[in-house]
Amino acid sequence: MIIRVTPGRINDVAAALDKAKVRFREVKLLGEELIVTWPEDTVDEKLVRAVDAGAVIINIKTKYQLASRQWRQRSIVDVSGVKIGGGDLIVAAGPCAVESYEEVKETAEAVKAAGARLLRGGAFKPRTSPYSFQGLGVDGLKILRRVSDEVGLPVVSEVLDTRMVEVVASYVDMIQIGARNAQNFELIKEAGRTGKPILLKRGMGNTVEEWLQAAEYAMLEGNGNVVLCERGIRTFENATRFTLDLGAVVAAKKLTHLPVCVDPSHPAGKRDYVIPLALAAVAAGADMIIVEVHPRPWEALSDSEQQLTFDMFTELMSKAKAVAQAIGRGV
Ligand code: PEP
Ligand code: MN
Repeated sequence: MIIRVTPGRINDVAAALDKAKVRFREVKLLGEELIVTWPEDTVDEKLVRAVDAGAVIINIKTKYQLASRQWRQRSIVDVSGVKIGGGDLIVAAGPCAVESYEEVKETAEAVKAAGARLLRGGAFKPRTSPYSFQGLGVDGLKILRRVSDEVGLPVVSEVLDTRMVEVVASYVDMIQIGARNAQNFELIKEAGRTGKPILLKRGMGNTVEEWLQAAEYAMLEGNGNVVLCERGIRTFENATRFTLDLGAVVAAKKLTHLPVCVDPSHPAGKRDYVIPLALAAVAAGADMIIVEVHPRPWEALSDSEQQLTFDMFTELMSKAKAVAQAIGRGV
């Protein structure tokens, strides 16, 4: 149950629930004062109405509540002025990993010229092998911040560890939680507490319901600026690196008010597969796509096979625009 209390009445409603031994959390979210009770508890609605005659009680049937569309139609996530979920398709682009200032600067200028609205780049890389390039760390964050300011594209970058959340949040406009940390709840809570927008990837072995419950962790910390990101799941299929689950995008759009992003790069695994997957994501209703682009992908220190060249990214943008317009959306 979500209780939308009259402003100023939250303490009175909380006291009444306490007395009745109801488990709940007080949350200030998206400009509203809310009380969220534990989904399995039954709450006597009269108890709430007796305290706050204006309270709106919303009975929610799903395990995730704040992420549910049962109390809110849609949310727009504002990343330093770029609005995700507002109808226009937002494209984030940039290298898989920050390798040098020149690499990021050149890429940021090219993708911005082609129409990208956000810059991506990993400073902390979650690599399968400990012998692979692990990212430049804080030096990478400094490069991202500098390029972001110089080029005028807000930047999204991944955090791997609770100890680094504050540092990452101080450099970026949006914090990415990667697929490998999709159920690292302490990390998600810590990122939630920063108040910064969060790009929350779906774990490669997670159901949509688990993905939305992960978002719930950030939202219970009072952070409603969560964008969900589908990036492919593990199946028996190995023609692509992961199986891009566009059904999950369609389902998420129906089940939650949060904007939904698609990363076509990591499921593709091969550069030639990225553009068609991106276009399919746009057609399926994604609010945002995030794509890996590198000045010379074949020289990239990570994910060299799937990163797009500048020319390919320009082609993607013009085709994505056409698909978006065909379904009544702008870019
Ligand atoms: C990334 O976007 O850099 C990344 C590592 O993605 P994922 O967590 O989806 O594998
Ligand atoms: Mn990558």
